[in-house]
This record gives sequence, structure tokens and C-alpha cells, in this order.
Amino acid sequence: MKAQAMTAFGAPLTPMDLDAKKPGPGEALVRVTRAGLCHSDLHIHDGYFDFGEVKQPVVVDMPAVLGHEIEGEVAELGEGVSAPVIGTRVAVYPWLGCNQCDTCKTGDQQLCIALPRRALGVAQWGGMAEYVHVPFADALIPIGDLAPGLGALAMCSGLTAYSALKKIAATPPDQPVLLIGMGGVGLQAMALSKNVLPNKIIAADIEPAKREAALGYGAVEAIEPTPAAWKAVAAKHGSTGAAIDFVGAPATFGFGTAALRRGGKYVIVGLFGGATTLPLASLPLRPISIIGSYVGRLDEARALIRLLRQGAVPAPPMQERPLDQANSAINDLRAGKVLGRVLLTP
Ligand SMILES: [Zn+2]
Ligand SMILES: [Zn+2]
Repeated sequence: MKAQAMTAFGAPLTPMDLDAKKPGPGEALVRVTRAGLCHSDLHIHDGYFDFGEVKQPVVVDMPAVLGHEIEGEVAELGEGVSAPVIGTRVAVYPWLGCNQCDTCKTGDQQLCIALPRRALGVAQWGGMAEYVHVPFADALIPIGDLAPGLGALAMCSGLTAYSALKKIAATPPDQPVLLIGMGGVGLQAMALSKNVLPNKIIAADIEPAKREAALGYGAVEAIEPTPAAWKAVAAKHGSTGAAIDFVGAPATFGFGTAALRRGGKYVIVGLFGGATTLPLASLPLRPISIIGSYVGRLDEARALIRLLRQGAVPAPPMQERPLDQANSAINDLRAGKVLGRVLLTP
């Protein structure tokens, strides 16, 4: 199969002809129609995540095939698998675990640490190829006649947004919720929010165009992330019991945690990186909770696809490019020159 493979961290992807793995018992093979390009692909391509003082290295075998936002058609099923039938349009849930440990059994396979790692497009070959081998056929989620690309995006940015919103779903409905950072994932959360939360949403971003976009998706206010701007909206709408940080930078963390009311929840999703200090006594005294949210569960991915199939959520901006232009797409994404999401088509 044709693939754009990573042969070394930081080096341009290389066009390669790789052997697609045959699906064994319980497995499947999917013909990829679209693979979304995500900021995480850039971090994996760099070879590390920024943990502030330290760089957390990425461990993968080369050649690696990136691309974890995968949409396609079922091409082959392994022994014992009868559904979804061959030809079915599917999104592929990529955050696979071992399917055997306690974490996986409770449905949190995205948190599995068993070796070898199985996440598609991260530890195993992903969607930047003609075919993707799927180790567990239950990762295939039929998408019906969903608009092209939506199923792919739902598997990472959409799922990340959805799962983060679910983590604050118990916020009392009369309190506004603060969403910080209206990039791709933040805007998808904005678009999904009224299907998940009854609360008013206040958006914060440093860029006027992104604040404008948030208002278009139904934010009651869109502010600059400054204490003064927050004070003004909190006087009008009340203080917030929950915030989601889609940036994950020291500046957004400082702004957002200060905005919380006592007992509030702070969910960090963004992987911008860096480090921060925190007066420890503020945790028991205020007392706030700081929670990380990493992608989402398979059942959440299925619920999100159901929601999208009902047409409840506006589609984010998407652009398609041929897979052999993966390198220029990566460069454009790095340079901040991409509006919306790039989908590579093999
Ligand atoms: Zn991603
Ligand atoms: Zn596991």
C-alpha cells in the first residue's frame, strides 16, 4: 500500500510502499478515504512533547505512519468478525488499548499502558496510507451518510472536545462555563456545547477573529483572557464553576484558574506545554480541582457520532489535500497557515 511514512523524527515524510497487515481473528482492514492532520501529529513528528523543563520523548518504531483521524470503508474482516459489513463507511476509533487490562475493561482504553502500545497513527500505523490495520473490529464506528471528513475529525479533535465537556456536565445549570482557546478543538467544543451542557458559555481567546467565531457558535460572551475582562462578564453572568483550557499554557492556566469560583473544576486539554507554579494551599482553601482530559473513550466516540448523524452540530471548516502533499500540509500547519482542519486523501 502507498503510504507517507515517517522514517526519522523531524525529517520530511517519505513516500513508501508498505505491506498492509492481514486482519487476523477479531481484526479488520479499512481502506482509508480521509486522514485528518492534527497538531499531535506535529508533536509526534518532532519526537517529543514539551513538559516545561523536560521534553517527553515519543517512542515509535520507524518507519511509522502518522494519522489518527481516520475515516474509510471496511475492506476486509478477520475471522469471527461479521460487522460492519465490507464497504461500510466507518470512522476508526484510534485510541486503542490492550482490551484485556482493568483500565480497558472499564472502557478507558485510551489510558491503557500495556505494551506494545496500540494507538493508531501513534504507536501503530495510522491513516496516512491507503489502508489501516485495526486490531479490534469494535473500533469501527459506522458513520452512515455523514458528510465526508466529519467522522475522521470526530475521532480526535471532536472526541477531545466532547469528552472534556462531559467532564463538567454536572456544573449547576445557572453557572456559566468558561472555554479558553478557540482553536480547532475549542471551537468544536463551542459547537458541541449546547448538546451536552445547559449552561451559558463564555469563550476566551487572544484573537478577535476567534472570539467572533465563538460568538457565531453561540457563546454568550467572547472575551480577551484578562482578569479585567473576566470580572466584567462575571458581574453580568455570575462566577463560573467550571472551565476548560484548550491551550494548556502557563498564561491560560493562570487566567482560567483565577476565574473559577470556590469548589470549581479546571479541565486541561491543550498540549501547548510549559510549566507553572501554584500556591499549594490554594487547592484546599479555594478548593478547586484540576483535571486532565486525554482524547476520549470509545463509548464517547460512538455517542459523538450519533450526535453528528442527527445533524445537531455544525461542521468545522475542512480542506482536502492529496496524501502525497502531506509534507506541505504539515509545514503549513506548523506555520499556522491552516484554517480549520486538513484532511489527506490517499
Ligand atoms: Zn489528534
Ligand atoms: Zn489495556
